Amino acid sequence: MQRREVRLDDDSRAVAKIICVGRNYAAHVKEMGSETPAEPVFFLKPPTALACPHEGELLIPEALGELHHEIELAILLGRGGKDVTAREAAKLIEGFGVAMDLTLRALQTKAKKARAPWAVAKGFDGSGPVGAFVKTPADAEAAMAESVAGDRALRLEINGEIRQEGRTAEMLFRPEELIAHASRYFTLEPGDLFFTGTPSGVGPLFSGDKIVASIEGLPELRFTIRR
Ligand code: ZN
Repeated sequence: MQRREVRLDDDSRAVAKIICVGRNYAAHVKEMGSETPAEPVFFLKPPTALACPHEGELLIPEALGELHHEIELAILLGRGGKDVTAREAAKLIEGFGVAMDLTLRALQTKAKKARAPWAVAKGFDGSGPVGAFVKTPADAEAAMAESVAGDRALRLEINGEIRQEGRTAEMLFRPEELIAHASRYFTLEPGDLFFTGTPSGVGPLFSGDKIVASIEGLPELRFTIRR
């Protein structure tokens, strides 16, 4: 498998861009002392942020500063689009996977204070580890009337201890709403990934930490952090 590719069932897909959303779970908005947004808060990770460290190690140099974990449901688009509705957005989704939006928290806090962009705090090399993706069933729309992502439990364990827990139904903006919103500004392409935000419980990662990120119905993402 090439760099910048993700596994999808027995196949793989080249990743185009990575569109992330901040503040998409109320409990996480609260723990960060942020305001609940009226519109989704998007930011980007470059494709070079992608990492597929499954069962291996991921090196994020200590020199970059404080590193935080954020478990997130990732969405892989099989088709592109522009100015799509939420209903149309649901049809662009090809698969779901487990991702982490690794964040250089000290740098992000500094950027927030200076009203500067989050680009380096969120987009550094290796900041987007993902597990294997699973294809969306063809009848997903009919099967999950509420949202294409359904209501799945998310759980992040570090060294066997639960650090983050939530449910995808707690998202403030559902995946198809996020995709529709983003498509007003960005032309969406096959291979685009969406990281859909994190529940509460974010915290620091240290060298040697063993991570098990799991979302109901999806392959686990397991790796060890090296710093
Ligand atoms: Zn995040």
